[in-house]
Amino acid sequence: MELVYRTVTLPLAVPWRIARGAKEEVELVHVSISHDGLTGHGEGAPNARYGESGVSAEVVLDHAGDLLGDDPFALEAIERRLADLPPHGAARAAVDAALHDLCGRLAGLPVWRLLGLDRTGPPTSYSVGIADPDETARLAQAAIGRGLCVLKLKLGAGDGLDVERVRAVRAVTNVPVTVDANEAWTADEALELLPALAALGVECVEQPLPAGDPGGARLKARSPVPIYLDEDCRTLADVAACAERGHGINIKLAKSGGIREALRMVHAARALGLGVMIGCMVESSLGIAAACSVAGLADRVDLDGNLLIAGDPWRGVELIDGVQVPANTPGLGVHEALSRTR
Ligand SMILES: [Mg+2]
Repeated sequence: MELVYRTVTLPLAVPWRIARGAKEEVELVHVSISHDGLTGHGEGAPNARYGESGVSAEVVLDHAGDLLGDDPFALEAIERRLADLPPHGAARAAVDAALHDLCGRLAGLPVWRLLGLDRTGPPTSYSVGIADPDETARLAQAAIGRGLCVLKLKLGAGDGLDVERVRAVRAVTNVPVTVDANEAWTADEALELLPALAALGVECVEQPLPAGDPGGARLKARSPVPIYLDEDCRTLADVAACAERGHGINIKLAKSGGIREALRMVHAARALGLGVMIGCMVESSLGIAAACSVAGLADRVDLDGNLLIAGDPWRGVELIDGVQVPANTPGLGVHEALSRTR
């Protein structure tokens, strides 16, 4: 098999602010793997929170091609060989997605079908970045106008207005609302905020505390809102500890290193009685298509990354009645947008 890759920088549709910072563009890595005249494509979204960048992805991808071998279906064996390279969730996710896309194309089946899964899962939430309460409500209304029917409000602004943001959104819509503090609160702050958020109908709170915070178990025991863990849960090795501090986990391919590890995490979570969210970074439709292929296993879906960027260079995922629906064509069902190939 032959692997080529490139890093791309895409502008965001609106500036994106969460508790730990703001950005106006996103750097992604696109991997293509060819075998027997067919080519599979995959994307990884390096995340600075986990010490990743496009450059660190390149270090891994420069060597990954030599370890692929000549059987794209030997996914476990390939994964074992790639384990000799430095850990890098985004680079691994890009390779894993490209291999799954290739296998699907070789078999003539969509990846979700190759995996024996449903084509679709629950409606996706749409993430509204941190803004003042009025702007948050305006962005929420705009999202609903685009056909989204679940909102995820980014909180943890540190300005004392987190509850006001939710209240402002509640004043303009009754759609389900979740929130994500991205590690910004202390346990005491969370215990003070969560009853007010519960009263406003917030369905779940994502990563209220810093990963590994010793107050996690205490917060879980007293929280009136289910807690989903994101930054606390990168790979299978993290899932068991999450049962002590959360009610569910947010699985992202860019953290897990791809579909195979994500599936292991889903099953481990179920064994521990945890809820499952399939989430994403800010990604193009190429990355979202891979996550869509396992979304049928989720209780909650947060696959809005492609809706947050301007000029998505890929096609293959369609938003239908609030659900991100993958194509019914072989592999991930993705192709490059015409504007980039002409
Ligand atoms: Mg999150």
